[in-house]
Amino acid sequence: MRSEPKDRHRFLIGSTNPGKIREYREILGGLDLELVAPTDLNPVPPEPDEDALTFAENASTKARGYAAASRLQTIADDSGLEVYALRGAPGVRSRRFFGDDASAEERNAKLLALLDGAMDRSARFVCVTALASPNGHVELFEGEVHGEIAESPRGEAGFGYDPVFVIAGDGRTMAELPSGEKHRVSHRGRAGAKLRARLAAGA
Ligand code: IMP
Repeated sequence: MRSEPKDRHRFLIGSTNPGKIREYREILGGLDLELVAPTDLNPVPPEPDEDALTFAENASTKARGYAAASRLQTIADDSGLEVYALRGAPGVRSRRFFGDDASAEERNAKLLALLDGAMDRSARFVCVTALASPNGHVELFEGEVHGEIAESPRGEAGFGYDPVFVIAGDGRTMAELPSGEKHRVSHRGRAGAKLRARLAAGA
């Protein structure tokens, strides 16, 4: 079924995370698109489950679920932090690994405690961004950035694990970067640049 003309340039950012919503607005800024969040819609579409074992599956499920419920083209990502000394954890469970109700500060403190004395602090951020149509068609865009876990949190910008992630070859934490600079190096910025090129090229 064809989209209504009024919805051709209207995209849902399928996320309840204000940090992610802000970043997609910045990364896709300047394109001829209207970006809406779930809470801008009435009724608010339900948040799809994300209990698969890979970022790609979770991103697809999330984007497809939101697109089916809203009838809008939808951008959703699954992303997270993989720490090698923790065998890839918190990984796909980055949001819940340290408890459903833990704040970002609590999660960062728990992560630093787990790595107390660890020689290998290497890590990477991974992002898979999915673009889904209401008919279920999905395209995926991937990005990653390598680094290591800091000894203590630094910086005020960004969200989540940003204050404890030191970017390889840079030395600053992700939270010490102004947002434009974060998008040039980050996992989401890299996946988002591919998505941006795809959207700019049209259907
Ligand atoms: P989900 O993709 O909604 O399952 O959540 C991903 C979780 O990974 C977030 O809640 C953060 O804890 C973490 N995360 C993902 N991307 C970033 C980022 O750019 N900076 C810091 N933490 C992130």
